[in-house]
Amino acid sequence: MKDFIIVGAGLAGICFAETAFINNKSFTVISDTSHNSSHVAAGIYNPVILKRFSLPQDSKEHLDYMKPFYKAIEQRLNIKFDFEIPVYRKFASVEEQNNWFEAADKPALEPFLSTQIVHKKYESLPSPFGFGQVLHTGYVDTDVLINSYHTYLKDTNNFLENSFSYDHLILHDDHVEYQNIKAKHIVFAEGFGLHANPYFNYLPLDGTKGELLVIKAPQLQLDGAINAGVFILPMGNNVYKVGATYEWDDKTAIPTEAGKAELIEKLNEVIACDYEIVEHLAGIRPTTKDRKSLIGTHHLHKNVHLLNGLGTRGVMLGPAMAKLLYDSIENGMPVKREINLSRFKV
Ligand SMILES: Cc1cc2nc3c(=O)[nH]c(=O)nc-3n(C[C@H](O)[C@H](O)[C@H](O)COP(=O)(O)OP(=O)(O)OC[C@H]3O[C@@H](n4cnc5c(N)ncnc54)[C@H](O)[C@@H]3O)c2cc1C
Repeated sequence: MKDFIIVGAGLAGICFAETAFINNKSFTVISDTSHNSSHVAAGIYNPVILKRFSLPQDSKEHLDYMKPFYKAIEQRLNIKFDFEIPVYRKFASVEEQNNWFEAADKPALEPFLSTQIVHKKYESLPSPFGFGQVLHTGYVDTDVLINSYHTYLKDTNNFLENSFSYDHLILHDDHVEYQNIKAKHIVFAEGFGLHANPYFNYLPLDGTKGELLVIKAPQLQLDGAINAGVFILPMGNNVYKVGATYEWDDKTAIPTEAGKAELIEKLNEVIACDYEIVEHLAGIRPTTKDRKSLIGTHHLHKNVHLLNGLGTRGVMLGPAMAKLLYDSIENGMPVKREINLSRFKV
């Protein structure tokens, strides 16, 4: 008898598997590649929502929990995927500078917004009004994290690379059974794939499509991520991720010409050098209308759980949400209402 079956091996599923591992629990992860949000993600972590100058609830706690969580994976798997780099907000006017300083004065934001105007001389990204720097930022190379974690799961015989067939799940009073695997609990972490899950597909996981370009730009020479209508994230070797679009109607993960054109237009407004487009990616972010995660246990089946709704911030939320769900299952700690799936009616 295993402790957990985990369905989905994106950021959510991996974070739950790691949490189970830390707590000496046994598990089998079952995942296909039907959804790819975690692979497509730029992986930036930034505690502040710059568009609204707001700090999502518990942002600091999520950041503080995330850093050692990922560090432990890096050390165990002998890989590097967490890169601390500054995020620079390009100021377009004096008014934008003033808004920044006003925000930086707020007690909650003060630890995260530098009050020095950064005058970086990027030849190919002129910014006469300078930049504001967000503190405690960086990015997780999600491809490295996820591919390495999958290899680790395979090497330890804890991974089944298959689609989960919901019809084959048998629920008993004190355990669940799937094909020849018995486990005390099952945790679903399918991202936007939730819509095919008969236990939870009543939940309003809207999904927001995002497209992103990978470019090569040898003259750009950025040493931080730039936020300027689009973000430009340096990945090393003159390669940058440029993104992302937000599209609410199209629910396919297919890159579109319209998405590409939007990104090129925004990029051309910001940089003044040649570049080559190397890749064009798209995915569906598992978003909810109230921008909160979907965590908790099925209202009828006490061994069936959900970890979803990581939205636009899976890198920061994944570890903390996995811990909250784990503590609720194993230690009876209640999941608070804002993120509890029970806030939505069946
Ligand atoms: C363009 C773009 C840019 C982004 N940038 C950032 C960023 O900079 N920072 C950030 O924090 N977040 C970012 N995100 C959001 C981030 O990607 C998500 O929050 C996160 O990846 C969601 O992880 P998940 O595990 O819930 O979903 P997913 O990554 O979709 O993983 C779900 C997994 O479950 C599998 N699955 C589904 N159904 C089944 C089934 N029936 N059987 C077996 N397996 C199944 C899927 O194939 C998939 O492997 C971005 C997203 C996009 C699209």
